[in-house]
Formats: sequence, C-alpha cells, structure tokens
Amino acid sequence: LPKPTIVPSTKASVQSGLIDYQSSNFIFAPQVMQNLKNTFHLNHFRLCQEGVINAAVDGRDIVCVMPTGGGKSLTYQLPAVMGRGLTVVISPLLALIWDQVRGLKELGVECVMMTGATSTSEQNEIYERMRNGSSTGNKEIRLCYVTPEKVSKSKRLISTLEKLNEGGRLRRFVIDEAHCCSQLGHDFRPDYKKLSMLKTLFPRVPIQAVTATLSSKTLPDLLKILRLGPITDGRAAKSTGTVFFSAPLFRPNLHYKVLPKPSNAKSAIAAMGAWIQKNHPGQSGIIYCLSKKDTETVAEELREWSNGDIKTGIYHAGIGDYEKERIHVGWRQGKVNVICATIAFGLGIDKGDVRYMSKSLEGYYQETGRAGRDGQDSDCVLFYRGQDAARLSSLTYGDVDGSSKLQEMLRFAQDLRTCRKVAFAKYFSASAHLSASAWDAPDSLSSSSGSTSSCGICDNCLRPADSIITKDVTIETWKILKVAQAVERDGGRVTLANLADLVRGLGGGLFGVVGGGEGKKGKRKLNGEKEKVDLEEVGGKITMSKDDIEALLTHLILLGYLSDSYHATAFSVNVYIKPSDSAVRLTRLRLEDIQAGKGIQIECTFLAIEPRMAKSKKGKKSDTDEDADDDGGGDGVDKLERGKG
Ligand code: ADP
Ligand code: MG
Ligand code: ZN
Repeated sequence: LPKPTIVPSTKASVQSGLIDYQSSNFIFAPQVMQNLKNTFHLNHFRLCQEGVINAAVDGRDIVCVMPTGGGKSLTYQLPAVMGRGLTVVISPLLALIWDQVRGLKELGVECVMMTGATSTSEQNEIYERMRNGSSTGNKEIRLCYVTPEKVSKSKRLISTLEKLNEGGRLRRFVIDEAHCCSQLGHDFRPDYKKLSMLKTLFPRVPIQAVTATLSSKTLPDLLKILRLGPITDGRAAKSTGTVFFSAPLFRPNLHYKVLPKPSNAKSAIAAMGAWIQKNHPGQSGIIYCLSKKDTETVAEELREWSNGDIKTGIYHAGIGDYEKERIHVGWRQGKVNVICATIAFGLGIDKGDVRYMSKSLEGYYQETGRAGRDGQDSDCVLFYRGQDAARLSSLTYGDVDGSSKLQEMLRFAQDLRTCRKVAFAKYFSASAHLSASAWDAPDSLSSSSGSTSSCGICDNCLRPADSIITKDVTIETWKILKVAQAVERDGGRVTLANLADLVRGLGGGLFGVVGGGEGKKGKRKLNGEKEKVDLEEVGGKITMSKDDIEALLTHLILLGYLSDSYHATAFSVNVYIKPSDSAVRLTRLRLEDIQAGKGIQIECTFLAIEPRMAKSKKGKKSDTDEDADDDGGGDGVDKLERGKG
C-alpha cells in the first residue's frame, strides 16, 4: 500500500520520538496550505484543524472532538483532495450529506453520494467510476458520502471498496458524528455499530472518527467498536495508536440558561412563545421535544398562541424524506422560524437559537451545539420544571446509564449557582482525555492546569445574588418522607406531582388517591376507601408554592432520599416516587427533635420569584390555595406523567 511517509523537515516536530502533529514542520506543509487557499479559499486553520490534517495526511487513525461548527469537515476534506485515492465519508443524515456534496461541488471537488435514495443507474455509474479511477478520462472521485445503512447492507459497495483497496486507492474512512456508534451515548444508531467491520475488512485503511461529543464512557466504547488502537496525544504522538485531538468545547457565543417551565401545558406554551417573541422575533430556532407527539402539539399550539406570527414546522424520525427536505429548505429560507423536533433533527445543521429539554447533558450539549454556528450570540434555553423528571425517567429507564445521565441533567437544571460552562466542563472532563482545560481558550489546550473559569454570560453567572434563596428544609423534608412512607406502607403509588399535592394538602385524584375540596383539609384516602394519610399526624401540611415543592422533591431525589420506581403497563412505563432506604435516617427522628435542630440538616436553593399578581386577585388566603386552580381540568403535565403524552 503506497502510504505517504512523513518526514519532518525540522527536528522540532519530533521530540523524544514523539510527533507533534500540531506543528507546521512537515514536508507536505506547503501542499496543505496551498489546498487550504486554492481549493477551500480559506486563509487560516481553526482550533486543532491543522494537527488533524497533518495526522490524516500521515495516514493515522484519528479521533477528533471539536465543537459543532468548529470545522470538522475540513479535517477530512482537505486531506482527501491531496494526493490520489478515495475517501469514504459515513454520515448519518441525508440532509447533511446533501449539504456537504453541494458545497464540495461548488469548490470543484469531485465527490458523490450513495444513499438508499440513489437510483440503480446512478449507482452503476458511480461504481464504474470508482473502479476505473482516472483512467477513463473522468476525474477521479475524491470523496464518496454514504449512510451507515449503505455500508452495512450493500455487498456491492464493500466489494468495490475491496477492489479499490487492492489497487491501493482506498485512502481513508471518515466517520462523521462518530458518537452515534456508542450505545452509551445519547444518539446511538445501530448501523453505526456495524462499522466494526471496516477495520476487519480493511485493516490497513486509516479511520478518522469526528464528533462534537464524547465522554469518558463513550470514548473507550468508540475505540472498541471501531477496533481502533489506544489513543495517543496529537501534540506528542507515539508512532502507533490512534491520534487523539480535542478542541475547546465551550463556545462563548452560546448563552446557557434554565428557565422555569409553568406547570400546565397552556402556560408552558405561552411562556415559550413570549420568550421567543421577546428575544428572537422572526429569528430561527429549534425546540427540542421529547416525543413525536410533543413536536406536533408544541408546533400547533405555538402557532395558535402567536396567531401565526411564529411559523412552526415539525421534524422527527417519522417524517418522510421528501417532507424533511421541504422543511430544511423552508427553514433556511425563513418560511419556517421554529422547528419543533426530536433529536432526529439537526445533526450537523447550521442554524438555531432556542432550546428545550434533553435526556442527558451530552445530548443537551450536542443539541445546543447547533445554535449560533455563524459565531453570533445565541441562546440555549432549557425550559424545565421538577415534574419533567418523571417523564424523562420513563423515557430513559431502559437506556444503559439512563438514570445516572438523567440525574446529571437534573442536577444541571436544578443548580442555580454553578456557572453552566463549569458544570459542562466537570461533566465532560470526567474523562482524562477531555481535560477540563479543553473548555478554555485554545492556547490552554497544551496546559494541564485544568482550571476552568466562569463564563460570565450564562444565567447563573448573571443571576443577582438576591434572586435565589437557600432555605433550611429539614422539617419539610421530614414531612415529605413521612407521607411518602405512609403511602408506600399502604400499598399506594404517587407520582411526583401527586406527592407535591398531598403534602400541600391538595387532592390530585390519581392512582387511588381520593381527593376533594370538602371535609378536613389534608385528609386523603388511598386505595379507594381503605387507607388514609392524615397530614395532622405529620404535623400538618407544608405551605410552599407548587414550583418550590417540586423543586424540593427533585432535590430530594438527587440527594437520594426519594427515588423513582417504575411500573410497566400494557401501554407505557409509569414512574412513581418512593422513599429510598436512606429516608429512615431522617424519619426515625421525632419532629420535636428536628424542630430543635438535632440531627441532619437539609438545605435547598429556590428561585425568589415575584408573587404572581393575577392569581392573588382572587382573594385566596394562602399560595397553596391559589395553586389549587392549576390542578383542575386535566392539564398537559398530568397527561404526560401518566405516560399518554
Ligand atoms: P462541524 O462539522 O465541526 O460542525 P463544519 O465542518 O460544518 O463544522 O464547519 C462549519 C463552518 O465553518 C463551515 O461553514 C465552514 O466553511 C467553516 N470553516 C471551517 N474551517 C474554517 C476555517 N479554517 N476558516 C474559516 N471558516 C471555516
Ligand atoms: Mg459536521
Ligand atoms: Zn457562566
């Protein structure tokens, strides 16, 4: 196999036998620069692009982690146009393939794509051209974009590649959005896993895997699936193994914030709509939703809420290719402002400024990475309330690590103090390879100090000190756990929302909890007529707003006092909340002792929100009563919690 050999032109790039790919001292450096300028019309490299390109030209296996919009495509497109041979790019999404092929053709680069939609006659022609190379007068194909399905299903593609390989004309496999390989990640695609076959069939053809998200768990998994050797650092690489590059993952133009999501579906839509109209009227955005059904409901209701001012579109795995293409075009042309999507949308897409809820921090980071790719300031908003936890855990309960990832997400959402950048850095730097410093400026890439400073632009950095209050919630926690234990002892089941209502002395009417306005406040029967939870026995109801109590319940889940329990029905998996074993550490104490400050102390931070004016007009006495209005008439959130969403 004619492998390009690397001869560093100065000693500088080889230090104690280690190769510094990030340097410009390679013999092919002039050719690289010439292609950057003449073919791609660019003047400088960004981030770690140059290093990745050097390692690629040197024929190495590579893993490259660079933020979305950072310029990963160039790292394989430039080496592909240098020298002879075919680069095969595996990419998960048709729209993304179309975009790249169109772009390359405009630059005059010979490239083709082969997907499920490519006709037989087109395929015949492409295979013919691949086999003949440049011998028939045609220009040699430099890049061939394929879907992973094509690789795993088409014997003809594989046999053509084998032919090319025998002739030494198969240069490289590129795996774009490589995190899709790992089941431990948030975007697993089964056909990506089958890419294991590439190293088996073509052991000497280099593989370049690029992505914007890899964690400590997904990186080893990726190496295993792609059968790549152990990683070696791109700035001081050994002569064997997989060369690893990572660029700063934090993008300063992204403004992260978590906004409280109202409890009923109507107000949640109104809150999102108002936020969009205030901050980004007429601009582009994506709202990530949790299910296909949600994308439809949110799109329709936002449109109605805004009297058509917010032009919405929907996008999910169930939408046909033609329709998807239509939405992409409409979105680019501004005929659609807001796309309500499941994560199926937007791998590698170039637009976006609104965000919704995500199942894991990795997912959230990846999804928000689609915002502001032009470098302009963009908002990445998470509309969140504690209740969402139940819905999310019913979606993640089957995933490997689903619950620990969800906990990370909840911790992020509930955290009103830690800078969002610092929080991301902590999460991703759990890996030795993605050091915390990867979140700082490019020049700190080489330093191993690992200090990560606050961003100064996220909600937590900008939050005035007096807008959050930390309260001692030991007594409230004791009461909550007592009620949860009573419910469990009596064989009842409660959702987070039910439990919130119960401890506030309100009826929720679910799962055998019989409620009603009349009679003694706080007396509730469970399981039909059989059981009761008498709030007087636990020292009376808790006077806290619905928002605060839900925040507290989620806090208690994160502290491990409460936990999720799952019950599968024929239609869905329901999530209930139960006291965990450590709850007794608190509940074995007497209320008097707790009130006297003995034993454990629990604190929780709440948002200090101004009193809700509209509701206090009704002249009700406590905020507990006011909130009772929220509970009438089967609101959207309850529906979600019952798994019918
Ligand atoms: P990614 O795949 O990492 O999300 P892309 O490869 O799609 O990002 O690149 C995003 C944008 O950045 C593209 O418009 C591309 O042309 C541009 N870009 C890439 N590299 C450079 C560079 N060195 N200088 C200027 N623009 C660049
Ligand atoms: Mg990309
Ligand atoms: Zn910050």
